[in-house]
Amino acid sequence: MAIIIQPWRIPEEGMEIEGEEPADVLALEPDGLIQADGPLIYHLRLQYVMNELIVTGEVQARVVFSCSRCAEPVVQDVSDPAFMATRTVANLHDTVDLTDEVRESIILAFPGYPLCRTDCRGLCPRCGVNLNVERCGCRPSAKENWTALSGLDKIEV
Ligand SMILES: [Zn+2]
Ligand SMILES: [Zn+2]
Repeated sequence: MAIIIQPWRIPEEGMEIEGEEPADVLALEPDGLIQADGPLIYHLRLQYVMNELIVTGEVQARVVFSCSRCAEPVVQDVSDPAFMATRTVANLHDTVDLTDEVRESIILAFPGYPLCRTDCRGLCPRCGVNLNVERCGCRPSAKENWTALSGLDKIEV
């Protein structure tokens, strides 16, 4: 599974290709917190000029993250609308494998702090219930209130 370009097939005026690859080109860890939920889709414009392959376009994948606050799955379409890669091709009949570049651009587009919704309440730090779906009887103890307040003080300083 790879995105292979054959420079000798690119006409002088360039060409566009689109297609999809199985998500395993992303090489995500099979048991990791981040999983693909569908193929990797690409729509690329290819140009081959003076031994230089220039590829621009868009790459996209649907990915399941784990919410940073409540750990519920979050499905997001991750895309790089400004994908670009260039390669020098010494021999016109060398194929070019773009899989690494495409994988990197998708991974760089992953959200750093995925949330199931912007106002996700997260999990109760005491009993662990998901506060988006139920309320628990826990009240922060006096000591925790105090810690929270001193934490705020620190942020303000
Ligand atoms: Zn959440
Ligand atoms: Zn609780």
